[in-house]
Amino acid sequence: VRRNPYEDEFHQAVREIFDSLVPVFAKNPRYREHGLLERLSEPERLISFRVPWVDDSGRVQVNRGFRVQFNSAIGPYKGGLRFHPSVNASIIKFLGFEQVLKNSLTGQPIGGGKGGSDFDPKGKSDLEVMRFTQSFMTELYRHIGSDVDVPAGDIGVGAREIGYMYGQYKRIRGASEAGVLTGKNPLYGGSLARTEATGYGCVYFVQEMLNGAGLDFKGSRVTVSGSGNVSIYAIEKAQELGATVIACSDSSGYVHDPEGINLATVKCIKEAGRGRISEYVAEHPHATYTEGCEGIWSIACDIALPCATQNEIDAEAAAGLISRGVKAIGEGANMPSTLGAIENFLKAGVLFGPAKAANAGGVAVSALEMAQNSARLSWTFEEVDAKLHQIMKNIYAESTKAAEEYGQAGNLVVGANIAGFLKVADAMIAQGVV
Ligand code: NDP
Repeated sequence: VRRNPYEDEFHQAVREIFDSLVPVFAKNPRYREHGLLERLSEPERLISFRVPWVDDSGRVQVNRGFRVQFNSAIGPYKGGLRFHPSVNASIIKFLGFEQVLKNSLTGQPIGGGKGGSDFDPKGKSDLEVMRFTQSFMTELYRHIGSDVDVPAGDIGVGAREIGYMYGQYKRIRGASEAGVLTGKNPLYGGSLARTEATGYGCVYFVQEMLNGAGLDFKGSRVTVSGSGNVSIYAIEKAQELGATVIACSDSSGYVHDPEGINLATVKCIKEAGRGRISEYVAEHPHATYTEGCEGIWSIACDIALPCATQNEIDAEAAAGLISRGVKAIGEGANMPSTLGAIENFLKAGVLFGPAKAANAGGVAVSALEMAQNSARLSWTFEEVDAKLHQIMKNIYAESTKAAEEYGQAGNLVVGANIAGFLKVADAMIAQGVV
């Protein structure tokens, strides 16, 4: 805390992981050596830079850009870019730290990184977004490369932003290097099923948890927070598996539709129009819209998929969900539950799929995009989706096994942290003190 003052989100992420590792250190004293924890929690590099750009009225705006290259023990740094006004060093470090173990869990050779800017894409014109992203890449390009560091999307960064950044990277480098960014449009090297991967992957993971307990998506009521990239495809897959998704939200408020959210309307508002979720009720007047996104957790549901942002479920919201009978939580967003909320869920015996495991499908398919770019091939949607499904099953199996091995059967928070940690730790030890 003294070394990283005012970095609450980063402290929260480190605390959760280090607490889980206590049984590992007790059983394997060799992990206490090598300065592993100190090295793991100190990024290899944190880059911060000025991003000047000119808005539509001709005024100069200045934002701050970040890239954290956290750990490269098992492969090139890999992790998304977030454009949101709340972005600061603490947010980027918590995301980068989590990414290290998440990427390890996927079983693919990728290290951990993350980046972004406090730029707010909301309300900006297309040209403003282009000028900003070009300026952002004009600094970022010197730190990334297909064998060095491969950014992707996150909150506020979708195919449009990735496209502008890729165009600028190519222009500066003077060469096509498809593998330098993932989440690209399939027209120029993007992988099919990448857009769907995080949401689908989260549902595949929860499906494993439910099956393990004799439960199913079929016939269940599901709440999904957010209405962005992860949420939309979590809704799509949950509906395909027979669930009724009764609510979704954005940062302004939430929609409750007991008959089942109409996904075509949500896609039309959010993907095609960049609009607000409040517009949903105009087409579906039987549904209700309520201001304030936190209220979504007061709706009774069987399965909750928080897919918006960090710390959106606190201890009180968790207690409310439990009292109304929730059976399973799948974290589509990064760190959406506070430590108090997680404690409540675990104590109450609610099935809990932590972000690191449940939302690893996005980065897993990003790594598949890198593989396709290296091989100069494009796999079909079905091929990529089948690989994603298998990866999510493996992550569930490995996390379950690690939890059992270390005396915490059923606790996937501990299981995912340990399974992700062991591979990175062994690679770090094998490579010496670097
Ligand atoms: P998007 O920008 O596509 O969507 C984010 C959604 O969450 C929007 O509905 C947004 O509402 C809402 N939201 C954002 N900030 C807040 C806030 N402070 N309070 C309430 N709601 C908020 O982002 P993604 O779907 O890509 O990402 C969502 C989460 O999933 C993030 O935690 C991200 O790190 C995580 N994730 C994403 C991956 C990916 O592949 N995209 C991979 C793994 C994790 P509004 O429109 O009003 O801003």
